[in-house]
Amino acid sequence: MIISVASGKGGTGKTLVASSLALSLSDDYKVQLLDCDVEEPNVHIFLRLALDQSQPVYVPIPKVDETKCTYCGKCAEVCVYNAIAVLKEKVLVFPELCHGCGACSYLCPESAITEEGREVGVVERGGSGNLELVQGRLAIGEAMAPPVIREVRKYIDPANIVIIDVSPGTSCPVVEAVKGSDFCLLVTEPTPFGLNDLSLAVEVVRKLGISCGVVINRVGIGGEGVEQYCHREGIPILLRIPLDRNIAMLYSQGIPLIEGVPRWREEFLRLFQDIKDIIAASWVAK
Ligand code: SF4
Ligand code: SF4
Repeated sequence: MIISVASGKGGTGKTLVASSLALSLSDDYKVQLLDCDVEEPNVHIFLRLALDQSQPVYVPIPKVDETKCTYCGKCAEVCVYNAIAVLKEKVLVFPELCHGCGACSYLCPESAITEEGREVGVVERGGSGNLELVQGRLAIGEAMAPPVIREVRKYIDPANIVIIDVSPGTSCPVVEAVKGSDFCLLVTEPTPFGLNDLSLAVEVVRKLGISCGVVINRVGIGGEGVEQYCHREGIPILLRIPLDRNIAMLYSQGIPLIEGVPRWREEFLRLFQDIKDIIAASWVAK
């Protein structure tokens, strides 16, 4: 079972939810927690696991053999990312723009293009007992998160419960991390900004055909807008976490909620049961 934990905006408590859920379940199940927030992976702070395995992530970029090139321009024509330009007697490649799709080398009529790997990040792994953490980390200055996320996802073992901590927002990295999930938990806060970003995230998840539910964090900070929206849209609110100084302090110290306040373990186990029930009901409906 794959459960992704996403949020339309940063700072809503997504990592708090993902790490607490994983730790609660790891008493009884084999759990993989995938940190796909590759620009700023921080789940490891809460799990305190040694990440003792590391694998670089490469994107294949074109290398032009100008002794074969006729400067026909087909490679530049086919590149939708403008990562390759053909001048009168020179082909320029812009590695930072290249997505490694391979279209230029495939379509070059002179077979003048080969590919070479460019390191864009790393996948790090570690574990203890029933819990394994796999995290992606984008190299400094790199903008292309999806290749790193794809590499993280290759470690998914369907026999486990897999929890994916998704990057905030609604752009390509979110789609790359969430797709293929059985369920998506959307973490938000009860403010107008939270509501706006939640509604955008719901749109994305619905387009992907994935069932979703909401966790409202910092209940008490704002109004009823998020609750009303969820009721209107028929989206279940599965957990409410209050605005609480103690919870904020635990988070700032990197202490998992269920360790700092053990009664929350039961809440997260109940959340998991609710998710299982929703997934089962959606299978029956199909
Ligand atoms: S498609 Fe091939 S031959 Fe044509 S300009 Fe590009 S590299 Fe050169
Ligand atoms: S591999 Fe794809 S993205 Fe990169 S230069 Fe070639 S066509 Fe463009």
